[in-house]
Amino acid sequence: MPTGKIVCIGQNYRAHARELNSQAPEEPMIFLKPSSALIGDGEDIMAGDVGRVDHEVELALIIGSTARNVTDEEALSKVSHVAVFNDVTARDMQNKARKAGDPWTLSKSMDTFAPMSQPVPYSSVEDVHRLELVLTVNGQVRQKGNTADMVFPPESLISYISRFMTLEAGDIIATGTPEGVSALHDGDLVVASIPGVGTVSNRFRRK
Ligand code: MG
Repeated sequence: MPTGKIVCIGQNYRAHARELNSQAPEEPMIFLKPSSALIGDGEDIMAGDVGRVDHEVELALIIGSTARNVTDEEALSKVSHVAVFNDVTARDMQNKARKAGDPWTLSKSMDTFAPMSQPVPYSSVEDVHRLELVLTVNGQVRQKGNTADMVFPPESLISYISRFMTLEAGDIIATGTPEGVSALHDGDLVVASIPGVGTVSNRFRRK
């Protein structure tokens, strides 16, 4: 499992921005999640009494070599692996922070809030611009999207981030979620998949 920083992108699919009552941003919206939140397939997502907790299926890009000020053209050569990521979010906490103009860090950063599948080599994926994302809860489809619908495609995200923040081997970029986020309940089985990339399956527990 990589252990670098996790750079997340907010509202990178228009339909998801709309469901959050926002408009898609004009530049990538960046926030960080700590690597201490990472868990793998089969581990439980654990949340205490923190209000609504949502799933967000995303494509994760894993950096293989240092990227600083890279162009769109060279950006994807810095990616060594890809994986399926679930950007678990304490939505009530996030909304409260947004409303107050405060950072929403904590709502995204709790232990177990970053389930990720076993990474596969980037070279094994035909085209990161045409990957289907699916998320089910207890077998029912909640999210279905395609990376073709990103506002900012993977290469733009990497070049944009690398203008400000050096990306290092082992860093993870979570590229944003399509529409359909919904609340999790104690005992739910959450399965996030990208055909051709992998699956990460986790049980949600209220501690
Ligand atoms: Mg997200």
